[in-house]
Amino acid sequence: MKTGKEYIESLRNRNIKVYFKGQLLDPKTLSEHPYIRGHFNSAAVTYDLAHDPATEDLVTTTSHLTGKKINRFTHIHQSTEDLLKKVKMLRMISLRTGTCYQRCVGFDAMNATYTVTYEMDQKLGTSYHERFKKFLLYVQENDLMVAGAMTDPKGDRSLRPSQQADPDLFVHVVDRDNKGIYITGAKCHMTGMVNSHEMLIMPTMSMGPDDRDYAVCCALPVDAPGVLHIFGRQTNDDRKAEGDLDQGNPKYGIVGGETLTVLEHVFVPWERVFLCGEIEYSGMLVERFASYHRQNYGGCKGGVSDIVIGAAATAADFGGYGKATAIKDKLNQMIHLTETLYCCSIACSAEGRKTPSGAYYVDPLLANVGKHNVTSLIYEIDRLAQDIGGGILATMPSESDLKSEEVGKYVDKYLRGVASIPTIDRMRILRLLENMTGGVALVESMHGAGSPAAQKVMYSKLANLEAKKKHALDLAGVVLPPKKDK
Ligand code: SF4
Ligand code: FE
Repeated sequence: MKTGKEYIESLRNRNIKVYFKGQLLDPKTLSEHPYIRGHFNSAAVTYDLAHDPATEDLVTTTSHLTGKKINRFTHIHQSTEDLLKKVKMLRMISLRTGTCYQRCVGFDAMNATYTVTYEMDQKLGTSYHERFKKFLLYVQENDLMVAGAMTDPKGDRSLRPSQQADPDLFVHVVDRDNKGIYITGAKCHMTGMVNSHEMLIMPTMSMGPDDRDYAVCCALPVDAPGVLHIFGRQTNDDRKAEGDLDQGNPKYGIVGGETLTVLEHVFVPWERVFLCGEIEYSGMLVERFASYHRQNYGGCKGGVSDIVIGAAATAADFGGYGKATAIKDKLNQMIHLTETLYCCSIACSAEGRKTPSGAYYVDPLLANVGKHNVTSLIYEIDRLAQDIGGGILATMPSESDLKSEEVGKYVDKYLRGVASIPTIDRMRILRLLENMTGGVALVESMHGAGSPAAQKVMYSKLANLEAKKKHALDLAGVVLPPKKDK
């Protein structure tokens, strides 16, 4: 297993093409780039904690392929205990980073692909599962980080992939020969892409008979010929070119360093193709991946919210109002909401079940409910945090002003809270709170792992409304007339 430092070093000699603000970046110094380094650092924590005796029980496990000790982020869940440990691991890591560490997306994509290829092979007589196991073995043996790549640009949402004015708005197979396939298109919102080794491409939705070329799942290095990445902007990101204080979380940044990843006639050899044209398994792969990823959010956002609660409570202490009853009440509300998020992740894991492949899968209904809660409860948690933090969260002078020869003494004097806490420390906590409760962090809670509408679609599929109606009718003593044949 790699350490964090070895992980970062392993990414130095790539031919990766990353553009930011119109400039092509030097791949050798990507991990030191001020706008990008936090995301490398955050992912590196998932490597370092595997070597820490205090955390290795959660972060390491035994490969079912080799019997060797591996990093859990490369594992295929073999029990409900594995599913539970995943959630506990995420909450624990979030407490250390306060932000996204990105490695879960590929983790979930691998578990989804593992289970679906097995079932597909059983039904269709294909040999995708064995191919995928070879890729998985390569990932485990080299302790790689894999970016899960699902979301296509989608163009006109009222049209199917094959009906779009531009055929590339969904990733599709444009050519094939006896060596492999060629794909073109793009993937959006790609968390952790530029600091991953590989990407695992999956279809973005179920596909119809005319969309066969769009039903494709395959793996390729993030620096494969024909691939380029456009690194996204974030709220307040130019603060990263300044000092540390105004960033709030300077070491690990905010959210996952997302990209628009473009694929121009990219070659993928057959041994790395895990679904190609089998439209009936496209939707299943999407659902599996989505549910595994939605499982995470009570763990990952639970840990992030723990930091928000701690920062809000400390801001109140530093301002001298931490003991007020109203503050304690707000903190209790935040704790209640945070643990509510965590409950769903624990529940969908405890209720997980074995799939035909032997791998374990979460309860999809409970996983979707958990992610859906995140789309509103995080807003409430952050609203309470901003309520506690006060207007200063939005109006505070900069680090440069604090350090200015002319006005620094005034910032220091007038932003002081309780006399025993240096002004700079009060400012640090307020900046952490500002950055964690605004901008991209909130949008990520809404749309990461799928927008609320995507979770609602799953309810009607999974919740068995007809059975609920039947129970109600039985209790009320209503017997419906038999349905007439048409
Ligand atoms: Fe993992 Fe997603 Fe949370 Fe990032 S946002 S830490 S990838 S679950
Ligand atoms: Fe996410």
